[in-house]
Amino acid sequence: MSPFRIVIVGGGIAGFAAAIALRGPNRQIIVLEQSRLNKEIGALISLQPNASRIFQSSWGVDLSRARAMVDEGFRIYNTDGYLVNTVPLLSRTEYEADRLVFHRRDLHDLLRHEALSSSPIRAGEPVEVRTASRVASCDPVQGTVTLEGGETVTGDLIVGADGIHSVLRKHVLQEEPLAKPTGHSEMIPTEVLESHEPEFCSKINPREPFTSMMVAHDCRLVMGPGRQREVYGIVALVPDEQLNEDPNAKQSWVSEGHLDKMLEAFAEYPPWDPLRTWHRGRVILIGDAAHAMLPTQGQGASQAIEDAEALGAFFEGVDDAPLELMDSILEDIFQARHSRVSLIQAYSRQAAKPATAKGDKTVTMTPEEFMDFNCMYRGAKAWKGRMISLSA
Ligand SMILES: Cc1cc2nc3c(=O)[nH]c(=O)nc-3n(C[C@H](O)[C@H](O)[C@H](O)COP(=O)(O)OP(=O)(O)OC[C@H]3O[C@@H](n4cnc5c(N)ncnc54)[C@H](O)[C@@H]3O)c2cc1C
Repeated sequence: MSPFRIVIVGGGIAGFAAAIALRGPNRQIIVLEQSRLNKEIGALISLQPNASRIFQSSWGVDLSRARAMVDEGFRIYNTDGYLVNTVPLLSRTEYEADRLVFHRRDLHDLLRHEALSSSPIRAGEPVEVRTASRVASCDPVQGTVTLEGGETVTGDLIVGADGIHSVLRKHVLQEEPLAKPTGHSEMIPTEVLESHEPEFCSKINPREPFTSMMVAHDCRLVMGPGRQREVYGIVALVPDEQLNEDPNAKQSWVSEGHLDKMLEAFAEYPPWDPLRTWHRGRVILIGDAAHAMLPTQGQGASQAIEDAEALGAFFEGVDDAPLELMDSILEDIFQARHSRVSLIQAYSRQAAKPATAKGDKTVTMTPEEFMDFNCMYRGAKAWKGRMISLSA
């Protein structure tokens, strides 16, 4: 019997997580990545308990190998640098996992290593990774993607994990929404911060394992240590009109930089509402390609991990899928995931608005209720079952 072929477009966090989740007997998995994967850059990134639990319980991956730091809680400061609130995280044993902070490169390296591993703990054949392979277009119904050089690659399943500027998205939606800039992100060696900004460091110790937030009227800083305290990450959320860059620039959400370049680096987030679908034919979008979100809840990568778990769960044992069956599996995944992710997306956007902003709040949960909603997740199939029992 010929193997079930899975083509994953994009070798980022979502792509390699999907590769791990989808590995299995009689499966051939190819990851097509546009870059050479030799200069992974990035900011600090956190995995919330809902995602770090998936690594432990579903995939058996030890995240300490990616130099994970346990985040002990949130500290909220006013603009004079005085601590006004603390939200501890370590006491929440019911989440069954910790909130972990990584240098994005370390997390990405671990995911790639596990996808390529031929160790007997990983089911199925190791994944094939083709770098310098930029996908230019795709035919969802035929199950093909075409590379920039003209080569066509065929898959029974095609996973669009090609990030915020997804090429596959317009083939799924048959239209293309555009992203727009919303903030800046920077990562600074901790010792540089300490030598240049002693006053800042006297108020907010950059080596303590807490996520600190400084909240002003319409801007906020979200900051915390990573890589075992070697670096300090800062995300600045500002109103769109305060950004200077070309909104049509095709950049990733990260850029390697220096302290004095902080205001030149930027991140992009989409202004669109949740996409009406994530799948068509043999293609499904996951991660930022399906639902990019503001980092106020630190859930972007965690939702990509949840997507990957959903793919693994709903495709378990599937090694042949005519188009009709494929459509029904992909719709099941979409139904299991869409309302949850859309709510998290909406809350992340709402949390970025000034406290004094007028207008209705989309999400009415308290931050504590929302934290439970995020972190008490136990996989896509269990979540779908919970939704069915709530609607019965
Ligand atoms: C400042 C900031 C801080 C954040 N902090 C957090 C956090 O603390 N916690 C959290 O959970 N999330 C966080 N996020 C969000 C998180 O980083 C993303 O949600 C996550 O990385 C999504 O991964 P992805 O694989 O979907 O996309 P990406 O990481 O963008 O990967 C897409 C991959 O596809 C490749 N690609 C693109 N187009 C093509 C093509 N045509 N052909 C082939 N390959 C292609 C790219 O080269 C890339 O490797 C943050 C985001 C920002 C901007």
